[in-house]
Amino acid sequence: MAITAGTHTYRNFIAGRWQESAATRFVTNRNPATGEVLGQVPQSSREEAAAAIEAAAAAFPAWRDTPGPVRGRMLFRVLELFERELPRLAEILTREEGKTLAEATGELQRSRNILEYIAGEGRRLRGETLPSERPDTFTYTKREPLGVVALITPWNFPVAIPIWKLAPALVCGNTVVLKPATLTPWTASVLMEIFHEAGMPPGVVNMVIGPGGTVGEELLTHPAVRAVSFTGSNEIGTRLYRQAAAAGMRVQAEMGGKNPVVVLDDADLELAVTGTIQGAYGSTGQRCTATSRVIVTPGIADRFVEEVVARAARLVVGDGLQPSTEVGPSVDEAQMRTVLDYIDIGVREGARLLTGGRRLTDGALAAGWFVAPTVFDHVTPSMRIFQEEIFGPVLAVCRVPDFDAALEAANAVPYGLASSVYTRDVGAAMRFVDRSEVGIVHVNNPTVGGEAHLPFGGTKATGVGPREQGSVAIDFYSELKVVYLDYTGVPRTGNLY
Ligand code: NAP
Repeated sequence: MAITAGTHTYRNFIAGRWQESAATRFVTNRNPATGEVLGQVPQSSREEAAAAIEAAAAAFPAWRDTPGPVRGRMLFRVLELFERELPRLAEILTREEGKTLAEATGELQRSRNILEYIAGEGRRLRGETLPSERPDTFTYTKREPLGVVALITPWNFPVAIPIWKLAPALVCGNTVVLKPATLTPWTASVLMEIFHEAGMPPGVVNMVIGPGGTVGEELLTHPAVRAVSFTGSNEIGTRLYRQAAAAGMRVQAEMGGKNPVVVLDDADLELAVTGTIQGAYGSTGQRCTATSRVIVTPGIADRFVEEVVARAARLVVGDGLQPSTEVGPSVDEAQMRTVLDYIDIGVREGARLLTGGRRLTDGALAAGWFVAPTVFDHVTPSMRIFQEEIFGPVLAVCRVPDFDAALEAANAVPYGLASSVYTRDVGAAMRFVDRSEVGIVHVNNPTVGGEAHLPFGGTKATGVGPREQGSVAIDFYSELKVVYLDYTGVPRTGNLY
């Protein structure tokens, strides 16, 4: 069932079948660069979400009992099909989300690496053998799946994030219901096509397209759902975390970031500028790990700012399908308005706007939601543009006297996802690594990106629950069972503590 753009109405995928939603309300899915209509997004109901949960619950016993290596082999089949679909999926991703074709290809590369790595985990779902205090007693731990797991994902990495949740959930033996973001149903539908074609048993993977407040609500209250893995905003994530915890569900919530780059006097200027530009404007700043703050010391500040401004001003903004484009649009009008509002806030707060700061509407750009790459200088830690996630191509530069002030400013936000330091001083780099309050710290490297076999996630207000990606992803999606096997044949005596 290959979906083509135009008047297509996206469908739910439940119990191994594509099902027309009974919705009477639809949202139009559009290409944010051109306004092109891609399809109609049904506002599915709680009942449809419940049907997906029940299909997942029915499929669970057989999938749980399928050996781990066989589940892993199924994911290797998914990987094969994913590789076949890569060019088509890259184009769909660009048309639906707006990132450039090169960035879309990068996201798909990361997704394929995750599939490849996690599929192998099917053979490594290990427990531990430990000695017992008693003779002739065998004690060990084993991993078991949880049951039905709900996966709620955002629009900004609409392939990689579903994949980094689906793969470990499935390899552990869980069955899943995916609720993709309303803005990216097409990419999610292609993923379902791939899982379907790979021969995933009916009900093991399900997808319901609809509003978070309705479909999400059912996923968080249905008694068959054992766990929820969420990636998205703090506003939704913190509410969802409380709700899931109150219902006794296991919950993982990966949320926003306000990621700093610290540039010290002895930094390699070229390295620091290039990394900052990549981190701030790649994916139009719509990454949880985007560089949104630069904290810079006096010996390099003027040269650094001058070069960053010059490069930001030269970036080619446009439709991500054009090979020359370096920065795509905001994902929709609302996101663009949020970014423009923050630019106004920055100006009103007294930060110095050095480049950008406006919507771009020249020629073909008028049809999309484009914001010029923006740099603010003389931003202070109390300003909202220093504290709050903007999720757009806006960089705030904050000048500080020395390393200690830089570290303090870097940590002076509620978020704790990624950070980076540019320096040639190993001691300063290691002090930053030790004291930066984040889940991912870089040295002489942009704040963005993540390798498939390394854990990913944040601390403080960014993240709750175990990390995603890498082999630690297994921790969230499995239960550790402890086994005592006594072959003494003699009743226990004494104090059974
Ligand atoms: P969002 O608005 O929080 O939405 C995320 C998902 O939650 C969507 O599927 C959304 O559905 C759903 N949702 C909305 N209301 C809900 C509710 N009441 N109950 C259950 N689910 C609900 O976030 P977004 O705008 O899509 O994504 C951008 C955010 O994600 C940024 O803050 C970014 O930093 C963060 N992010 C974090 C990471 C990380 O790993 N830390 C990675 C990527 C993105 P609808 O689309 O239908 O509203």
